[in-house]
Amino acid sequence: MNEDFDVCVAGGGSAGLAAAIAAARVGARTLLVERHGSLGGMASAAFVHSVCGLYRLPAAKDAEAQMANDGFAAEFGRHLLGTRDADGPVRMGRVDVLLHRPAAFTRLADTLTRQESPNLSVRLHTEIAAADADTMTLACRGSFRRIRARAWVDATGDAVLATLRGAPCETESSDRLQRPAFIFALGGVAADTLGDDARLRLAGRLVLAVKAGALPDAILGAHFRASPQPGEAFVTIDLTGGTDFDPLDAACLSALETEGRDLGECLVEFLRAEVAGFAAAYVAAWPGRAGVRESRRVIGRYRIETADVAAGAEFPDTVAHSAWPMELRETASGPKLRFPAEGRNCGVPLRALRARDDESLFVAGRCLSCSHEAQASLRVIGTCLATGEAAGLAAALQVAHGACDAKGVLAARTQIAR
Ligand SMILES: Cc1cc2nc3c(=O)[nH]c(=O)nc-3n(C[C@H](O)[C@H](O)[C@H](O)COP(=O)(O)OP(=O)(O)OC[C@H]3O[C@@H](n4cnc5c(N)ncnc54)[C@H](O)[C@@H]3O)c2cc1C
Repeated sequence: MNEDFDVCVAGGGSAGLAAAIAAARVGARTLLVERHGSLGGMASAAFVHSVCGLYRLPAAKDAEAQMANDGFAAEFGRHLLGTRDADGPVRMGRVDVLLHRPAAFTRLADTLTRQESPNLSVRLHTEIAAADADTMTLACRGSFRRIRARAWVDATGDAVLATLRGAPCETESSDRLQRPAFIFALGGVAADTLGDDARLRLAGRLVLAVKAGALPDAILGAHFRASPQPGEAFVTIDLTGGTDFDPLDAACLSALETEGRDLGECLVEFLRAEVAGFAAAYVAAWPGRAGVRESRRVIGRYRIETADVAAGAEFPDTVAHSAWPMELRETASGPKLRFPAEGRNCGVPLRALRARDDESLFVAGRCLSCSHEAQASLRVIGTCLATGEAAGLAAALQVAHGACDAKGVLAARTQIAR
């Protein structure tokens, strides 16, 4: 038996969460489908623990942090800061970020989605297996169910729904794709072990250990960040993904997971034995999945180009703003940052959130329509929350009125603001 919805959102990461809540708030009967057991995507399952792109790029060194987008992104940031598991805005050089524990992100997503019942139904442990123009087939534990909707939002990060519907997508060549990374949680870290100076000293120790052959090369770029909870830290290890890195291939993804855990275990053993402050350290949790920064992108009615982000372009149909430099991670040796001219934020036009030839398909988050370099800015969580909200509202307006435009999306955003 088919179930009918107005809007179906595929993927419950930051973009899908925002899209589903926004659509439900304007009265659309909405379904949110997620294959993991929790919402949040990379921000929960892959342990990404800082929200970037939530605040505008500061105009001056001592300028106060300002939200880059009104609406759900700002609301989500305020709620996160209301938990004891977040800290922000924290100025890091030329940017402001909000640090959080992924566990808090997950719980906040539970609370906010539950508040939108009965308009919003959430199906966890559900994989999108097939789709055509009007329906989607969902798989859960060997059973299949077809649902029908009048508009769709692809927030899968990998443009899964667009691919299944036959909408054109693009993928960067293997050697240029942003590199994946593995983030895990460390417990038992002594107080004051991860201050700025201590982290520099630790990086020096790791370099020497790699040079001496005591640790593998991949540990060189290991990055540590203390969590808001005492004794806890998150460790990020950038991976190469191999010469034929393919973030859409199961064998490649499987190799990332075991490589990440092998490296993490080896690093923790070294820290316990050799570095002050880590004698009692242990792996507190492995992530649900390794982190993938880039895979497919949908080809939309407008492709946000590298030059748009570099110049901080504005569009007549801007519905959100990106506020992060292009953070290129094409090698596993740390980021190359390219800031936009005069720190200007870049507009996200509604056309970049609409599939080129598919009237009822919208897209949000890291698979929206943009160039490879532009994605290096647009993919961050703060921007995903904002593009997700805009795509969800546009989809709901399309269902209600048979059309949608940026003016309507912005008016709806104001109407549902909390
Ligand atoms: C290692 C790493 C570090 C990063 N660091 C930062 C950072 O510090 N700050 C920051 O702001 N951003 C950071 N990012 C980027 C950011 O985390 C992601 O780009 C962002 O979270 C993407 O959100 P999304 O909603 O578009 O996609 P995702 O978070 O990937 O969510 C997509 C969701 O769709 C679900 N899904 C996919 N296919 C299906 C299917 N067939 N059926 C059902 N569900 C499906 C997935 O399970 C997932 O939950 C980092 C990314 C990585 C990988």
